[in-house]
Amino acid sequence: GEFENIEEPLKNKNKTVIVQFAPAIRSSIGEEFGMDPGTVVTGELTAGLRKLGFDKVFDTSVAADFTTWEEAQELVDRIISGENLPAFSSCCPAWVKFLEFYYPKFLNNLCTSRSPQAMMGGLIKTYWAEKNNIDPKNILVVSIMPCVAKKYEIKREELKMENGLFPVDVILTTREAARLMNKHKIDLKNIEPEEADNPFGFPSGAGVIYGASGGVFESAFRTAYFKATGKNLENIDVKEVRGLDGIRKRELKLGDKTIKTVLVNGIKNAKKMMEELKENPDAFQAMEVMACPGGCIGGGGQPIPTTPEIRKKRAEALYDVDAKKELRLAHENPVIEEVYKNYLTSKEISHKILHTSFHQREKDEVIRLKDSKDN
Ligand code: SF4
Repeated sequence: GEFENIEEPLKNKNKTVIVQFAPAIRSSIGEEFGMDPGTVVTGELTAGLRKLGFDKVFDTSVAADFTTWEEAQELVDRIISGENLPAFSSCCPAWVKFLEFYYPKFLNNLCTSRSPQAMMGGLIKTYWAEKNNIDPKNILVVSIMPCVAKKYEIKREELKMENGLFPVDVILTTREAARLMNKHKIDLKNIEPEEADNPFGFPSGAGVIYGASGGVFESAFRTAYFKATGKNLENIDVKEVRGLDGIRKRELKLGDKTIKTVLVNGIKNAKKMMEELKENPDAFQAMEVMACPGGCIGGGGQPIPTTPEIRKKRAEALYDVDAKKELRLAHENPVIEEVYKNYLTSKEISHKILHTSFHQREKDEVIRLKDSKDN
């Protein structure tokens, strides 16, 4: 299988092979090893990946904190200027592609912030490579992701960096990563948990809830609130945006402004909201869309089966990780401060590494994406 293609590079001493795992993997991959749905195995997964031979194990949730920082800024800027509203989330490639084909007139509504895994790959092959004196050409970035749409995302030309490289080289789905560990007799049920590596190993709770529908918006809202008011939310839990219903309309106070928000999961529901928006351009000011039921915890690459009950447990587990963390706000993550202070020192630099663009697509590409989702 494709998952075996990384076994050679893992043995190659001249390659630095780095793995990152998505927020939604920690509460699902345990199922592949006989654990109950919703068992959180962040440390066990980290240990297992290290055993496979990866040189560094990073947590995509840390990159989600960067996404939150950038996306919150976009949200605040747009609310103040009134331009490109409503703001759409853009970290789900299946949703982005859907919009690029069916609703190209709305492409300016997408936030240009890259998805967390793309930001992580970009930071690894610039900031981290320079810091460690490694030629980025000799770095292979592997992402463990909940879906096959991410395999398409990493090949988007818009993500190509100044050094000619793509941020991420290989995607393994949750199931493929489990198969690889099984093949090497690594059992997450019987392994000592370990911590992920610095500097991208320690996320805020906000970075972890990205895996559940509503989580991307909640994280961005926590930080947007801080950016807009100079204060943190009194109650960090924005519980009203959570849940597994396919369309959830909510009104939130951001300083003296009320933001009409809609949280959507499932492409059919996204289509409904786009039709509503065509009728009434002021229907809402912010929309998060995740193509899969329940968000990435219900992604097509996740352990099978995924029933509504299982999705609920996986999501609850992520909110539980967040609730128990001391660090719950992306803008308080020290790694954010360090990287912006020492590397992303201008808007120009951060835009190159952390932002992207969108273009109208041809039909056949969209159909191919649909086919591959069933694999
Ligand atoms: Fe992938 Fe589904 Fe998550 Fe979109 S919602 S990024 S398609 S797992």
